[in-house]
Amino acid sequence: MTRRARLVAAGSETRLSSPSRRAPDDLAVVVVGPVRTCVGCRSTDRRSVLLRIVVSADSAGIPVLVVDAGRCMPGRGAWLHLEPRCLELAERRRAFPRALRHAGLLDARAVEAYLRAP
Ligand SMILES: [Zn+2]
Repeated sequence: MTRRARLVAAGSETRLSSPSRRAPDDLAVVVVGPVRTCVGCRSTDRRSVLLRIVVSADSAGIPVLVVDAGRCMPGRGAWLHLEPRCLELAERRRAFPRALRHAGLLDARAVEAYLRAP
């Protein structure tokens, strides 16, 4: 009985600290994880809580900003908090074209819609 209880305790400890265990990306990020800078408020945060924004083309071929929900789209990405305030700051500073090395204006309506979605 006692021995079994000890085994269970050791087991849960191993689960939390073992680096060899394959944890879902977000879980690993909570412990150490890569850190990114929000292009809006310029503060750093864990990659897992920031949105990745990339340049894509709309149906007319015009470059627009889109949310890379899977965080795996090719090309440069800009990182943004899920905060309308951060989007506003980023737009005011023209942070997206700078971060994404894009000459010219970028439409952020898709990102705005994403932030407003429940
Ligand atoms: Zn921010």
